[in-house]
Amino acid sequence: MTASIPDFSDLAGLAKGLADGAFTAPELTQWTLRRLADDGLNAVLAVNPEASLRQAEAAQAQLRSAVAGQAGSLGRGFSLCGLPIAHKDIFVTRDWPTTAASKILAGYMSPFDATVVEKLHHAGMVCVAKLNCDEFAMGSGNTHSAYGPTKNPWDHRAIPGGSSGGSAAAVAAGLVPAATGTDTGGSIRQPAAMCGLTGIKPTYGRASRWGMIAYASSLDQAGPIARTALDCAVLLSAMCGFDQKDSTSLELDAEDFAAGIDQPLPQAKAATPLAGLRIGLPKEFFADGLSTEVRAAIDAALAELTRLGAQIREVSLPRTGLSIPAYYVIAPAEASSNLSRFDGVRYGHRAADPKDLMDLYCRSRAEGFGHEVKRRILIGTFVLSHGYYDAYYIQAQRVRRLVAQDFDAAFADCDLIAGPVAPTVAWDIDAPTTNPLQEYLADIYTLGVNLAGLPAMSVPVGFGQAGAAQRPIGMQLIGPRLKESLLLQTAYHLQAATDWHTRTPPPVRRSA
Ligand code: GLN
Repeated sequence: MTASIPDFSDLAGLAKGLADGAFTAPELTQWTLRRLADDGLNAVLAVNPEASLRQAEAAQAQLRSAVAGQAGSLGRGFSLCGLPIAHKDIFVTRDWPTTAASKILAGYMSPFDATVVEKLHHAGMVCVAKLNCDEFAMGSGNTHSAYGPTKNPWDHRAIPGGSSGGSAAAVAAGLVPAATGTDTGGSIRQPAAMCGLTGIKPTYGRASRWGMIAYASSLDQAGPIARTALDCAVLLSAMCGFDQKDSTSLELDAEDFAAGIDQPLPQAKAATPLAGLRIGLPKEFFADGLSTEVRAAIDAALAELTRLGAQIREVSLPRTGLSIPAYYVIAPAEASSNLSRFDGVRYGHRAADPKDLMDLYCRSRAEGFGHEVKRRILIGTFVLSHGYYDAYYIQAQRVRRLVAQDFDAAFADCDLIAGPVAPTVAWDIDAPTTNPLQEYLADIYTLGVNLAGLPAMSVPVGFGQAGAAQRPIGMQLIGPRLKESLLLQTAYHLQAATDWHTRTPPPVRRSA
C-alpha cells in the first residue's frame, strides 16, 4: 500500500516518489491525514479530509497529464504538484475554518483563499490542515493560543517556539513535510530554530499579505518552514510574486530561488563553494544574554562555513537593543488598528443578550480576545493616543529608520550577516509567564530584520541539553534586500556539508 512513504522525508524526496510512481498524491494525502489525526502535540486546528482528497485527485490528474512534473516548478528545483502543505491558521482558507487561534474567530469560514494559499494550490500542492499559532500571531512560544499550547516534538515539556509554533511542530514531528508561517518579528525563524528546521522570511513585499490576517501590516511577511534550504527555496518561489490586491506588494518578476542553489558562488570552486563570501557577525549579537550552548553551536557552524570558503568578520548593529522598544510600540500600534474590525458585528464571536451597542462591542471583544492580545491592543491604543503619539509612536518610527541604517552600514562590509535566532533553546511550556517582558526580550535578534524589511532565515545547527532531552538550536542568516537566493544558497551548501537538518525527534507519544 503506502509503506513506501518515508516517515521524515523532505519535499524533494516525496516529489521524487510521486514522479517515480512509488505512491500517488491521494495515497500521500491519506497517509498525511492519518498522521495529522492524532498528533499528540496540539499542532492541528482543523482538517477537511474531503477537500484535501479532492485536491489530491486533481493533482494526480495533473501529474498524469502531458505536462506532468512541470506544475509549480520554475527551474532547477522540483514539482510541488501533489505534495502536502499545511497552513498557519493566520491564512484565510475557503474550505477550512480560520481562527487566528482566537476565540473571537471560532468557526469563521472565509469566502476566499489568501493569495499565498491560492498560489501553492495553483502549484498543485494539497492543503491538509490548518495549524495552531499564538493568537493573532502575538507571541514567541505558542502559549497564547486560545486552543491551548503546542508541544515541541523534541521535548514535550518545551514550547515549539512561536508564533508559527504549530507549523514548526507539525513539520518537525513528520506530520507534514512543510508548512507556511508568518513572521512579524521572528515568528518563522524562531520556531524553525526551536524545532530544528529551516525557515525563511523574505524581503518585505515579496509575498502577498492578501488574506493573511493582519497583525502589524508594515512588518508581516509570509514564508515557508520545511526541513531543507532546497525545500524552502522551491516553496518560496511558488509563494512570492506581485499581487495587485496587496498595495505593499513589490512589482517584481517571479524569481526561482532554487535555480543554481547547488552551484558554487561565481568566484568559487566546488571544494570551497562559498569562497569570497563575507559573513558579518554583529558584535551586539554575541554579547551578554546569549547562552553558552547557543554560542557553541553557532561557532561550530561558522567554522563549517569557513571550511566552505566564507570569510568571517565582525560588524556592528549598534541599535540592536533599541529594536525591542521600537518594535513593541509599532507592532501593538498597528495591531490595535487592525484588530478594531473584530467587534462582534462583522466577524466571529458576538456576546449574548447585549444591553445596547456599546455593551455588544465591549463584551464581544472582552470575551473573544485573550490576555496577550488585549494587552497589545491597550498598549497600541495608548501609544497612538493624542499627547503620546509623538512621544512613543513617532519616536519608535525614528528608531526604526536608525535600525535600518545600521543594517545598511553593516552590509557595506559583508554580504550576509550571521548570528543566533534566539538567546536560548526552547523554554518550558509551563515556565512562569507573569512578566511578559521576558518573552519580548527573547526576540532581540529577530525584530530588527522586520523593522528593516530584510530577508532572513534560520538553519538548524545543533542542540542544547535539557535533562535527558535535546532541544534544537538555529543559526540566523540575514541578507540585504532581495538577496533571498544568496541566503538559500549559503544554507544549501552548509546543509550539503552537515547533517543537523536530517535529525529527527523521538517518535510522537500519541495522545500523551
Ligand atoms: N514574538 C513577536 C511578537 O510577539 C513576533 C511575533 C511574530 O513574528 N508574529 O510580536
